[in-house]
Formats: sequence, structure tokens, C-alpha cells
Amino acid sequence: MRVWWILLGAGLGYTVGAQLAARAGAAVRSGPARPQVALTFDDGPHPEYTLRIVEVLAHHQVRATFFFVGRHALELPEVAREVVRAGHCVGTHTLSHPHLWTLGPGATWREVAAGVQAVQQATGIRPRYFRPPWGTFNLAALHACRVLGLVPVLWTVRGEGYRWKPSADEMVREVVRRAHPGAVVNLHDRGGFPDTPARVLAALPGILRGLRSRGLQPVSLDELLGASDGSPPACSPVQLQ
Ligand SMILES: [Zn+2]
Repeated sequence: MRVWWILLGAGLGYTVGAQLAARAGAAVRSGPARPQVALTFDDGPHPEYTLRIVEVLAHHQVRATFFFVGRHALELPEVAREVVRAGHCVGTHTLSHPHLWTLGPGATWREVAAGVQAVQQATGIRPRYFRPPWGTFNLAALHACRVLGLVPVLWTVRGEGYRWKPSADEMVREVVRRAHPGAVVNLHDRGGFPDTPARVLAALPGILRGLRSRGLQPVSLDELLGASDGSPPACSPVQLQ
């Protein structure tokens, strides 16, 4: 009987404990309280919507961060490279987007390490940031981040929820209303609901205008978290050699 309690405790520590640690500071949820907001896009690249989102960002002269699913980046390397060429930061979102609470330490390591490798192979850039699928960590993922030199990243503001499916206008209102200095905003250029990328694309100009009207500058994670000494962000296109 006792062994079951020990196993249950170990399992809870591996899953819930890791999540509590991530939320308590082991993962980045927001940046310094400067008037900046980091927009992040998960689950891409998407064959159509990723570059349409990049176009809108270019029109508004904004850099953002894309958390690629490794398999998608390998399927669409030209799209992934174009995102980097446009000056955006890239992060990894595992190789195949599993829920990490279903994976043991070995499988977790493979998902995280292969996700890094896939992004590097597709773009020529080694990703600096890691976001787990559904924002759910296990202890092995936090350990893998440390070993691989990845910054674990969550968010403080979301464009939609797992059961909350806002229209584009509602998404604009919610993101702009909830944004705060240093916020990290979670959006999707792929995944989510079937029409999520289309609604995010439709909402994006309103989100950018709304943030700026509140005095908040949309930036990449490098700009949000980086030094304020004017040094160039690490995710600039010059890295693509
Ligand atoms: Zn995801």
C-alpha cells in the first residue's frame, strides 16, 4: 500500500510540482515592467497563415516570437526561414506537440532535444526559448531546458482559451484590456480551433493598434527580456548565415 503512495507522490511531483515550479518562477511568464508587450505565436509554421501574420507584423514594423512545432518546421522549412529572415525570434514547442504529462523523462528529453534540432535544421537558428504544449511542464522538461540552454516561457495573457472561442473583435478587446507592461501574449498561427489562425490574423491589426493606443509597444521576447543597453537582439536576420 505504501509503495502506491510513494509512486503517487512522485507522479504528482513530476507533473503538478513541475507546473507549480514553472508558474512560481522556473519559467518566464512576463518581462520587466517596461511599457512593452511580447506577442508570441504557437504551433506553426502554417502553410498559409504564418506568412500572412508576418506580413501584418511587417506592415506595423513589429517583431514577434514564433514557437514552432519541430515537425511543422521540417515540413515547411521555407516558411520557417522566412519568419527568421523577417527578423522574428523563434522558439521550440517540442517536436510533435505531445502533452508532457503523458511522457516519461526519456521521451520528454527526446521531444525537447529533437524540437531544438528541427528548428535549427529548418532555419539555421538555434532556438533560445521553449514553450511546452498547452503550457504544461513536467520536471524532465524543466531539466532539459537547463541542459540545452533554453529559456522556458509561459504567458500572462491569452488570445483564446481551450473552451473559450472569441470572435476576432472579442480577441482584440480581451488582449488589449488584459495587456500590461511586460506582458507575454499567447496567440496561435496554427492549432487551437480549426479557424483560430484566421481569427488571429483578423484580430492582429486591432491588437497592435490597441496596444499602442495604451502606450504599450509590441516586441519580440528578445526585446522584452533582453538588455536595455541598445545591443542588437539575438534573433536578428544577420544570424542566418
Ligand atoms: Zn501548442
